Amino acid sequence: MIHIQKRILITGGAGFLGSHLCDRLIKEGHDVLCLDNFFTGSKRNISHLLGKPNFELIRHDLVQPIFIEADEIYNLACPASPIHYQYNPVKTVKTSVMGSINMLGLAKRVEAKILQASTSEIYGNPTMHPQKEDYWGNVNTIGPRSCYDEGKRCAETLFFDYHRQNRVNIRVVRIFNTYGPRMHPNDGRVVSNFIVQALKNQDITVYGVGSQTRSFCYVDDMIEGIIRMMNGPDDFIGPLNLGNPDESSILQLAETIIRLVGSRSKIIFKPLPQDDPLQRQPDITMARKNFDWQPKIDLDEGLKKTIEYFKGIVPALMPR
Ligand code: NAD
Ligand code: UDP
Repeated sequence: MIHIQKRILITGGAGFLGSHLCDRLIKEGHDVLCLDNFFTGSKRNISHLLGKPNFELIRHDLVQPIFIEADEIYNLACPASPIHYQYNPVKTVKTSVMGSINMLGLAKRVEAKILQASTSEIYGNPTMHPQKEDYWGNVNTIGPRSCYDEGKRCAETLFFDYHRQNRVNIRVVRIFNTYGPRMHPNDGRVVSNFIVQALKNQDITVYGVGSQTRSFCYVDDMIEGIIRMMNGPDDFIGPLNLGNPDESSILQLAETIIRLVGSRSKIIFKPLPQDDPLQRQPDITMARKNFDWQPKIDLDEGLKKTIEYFKGIVPALMPR
């Protein structure tokens, strides 16, 4: 097969998912432009790529327009953890909405193909289970999670309108909870929180009674799915669910992490945050059918790799 080197822009490229995407596309020999304002991402995530001839880092806030050349754009810029996206909710909406307008305008001008990292959160607290792509969702427009949920919903609308109105070549993937190395240790997401707490033998903070469910996908599987979607046929634009359908309750997750770490932590219960979805599981029939894609790494295996990463970044986290 002939290898075509593309110039690929990754917004949010210094974040958790973005940095893994940079790694993969650099390995494939593409020219990668990593754009980030370092709100939640860090230079450490991509420091091993600095100095490579096919890697460039641009510090830029996506809310402002930018004029560069690219063949493909992966639009990942947006804080993803509730603590971070609720820190400055107006900025979160601006990043999703104005950031998408800026990137879609760029894609239109340079005729680039553009993929949006949408989210399972657009389904809100779902009344359909598992969630299929044709479900419209159950989202509060005025709650603490709305800046993220509605920002991402509006971004999807913009993608489809630029496609219909300006023939921009788009892809939209809806990402379900994904975890792995390079998650921010303090971003408050459940997997990183529980692993850090377990490694320190601190109490594990389960919100509510822990009966709410999530379905956790390991990062390598997610990156594979995102890349397959970007490189799929132009008449299949999504939205496409990507995630691991293996659903577990938050209490089960806490118990699994305690077991894998060999921790002395105890589980304690804290109030359930407002609008916290009670259940979530992707229906990935469409991804299976169109791309022969499904996650390969099960929860135990993925958690073990993630625990190793967290042991490495903060030696003080090692169990005593
Ligand atoms: P992350 O917070 O690690 O990465 C987001 C990146 O975007 C960070 O590097 C951050 O600095 C950057 N960023 C934020 N605002 C910006 C702005 N205004 N200008 C430029 N850069 C900006 O989160 P992640 O988990 O890697 O998520 C990446 C994308 O995937 C996000 O769009 C998120 O909504 C989506 N997503 C992730 C998950 C998940 O479980 N990880 C689930 C659903 C959707
Ligand atoms: N959660 C928890 N303890 C924590 C952090 C999160 O019980 O220390 C719960 C949270 O209430 C939610 C689930 O874990 O029900 C997933 O939370 P996360 O913030 O990782 O993702 P999201 O809610 O956006 O899916």
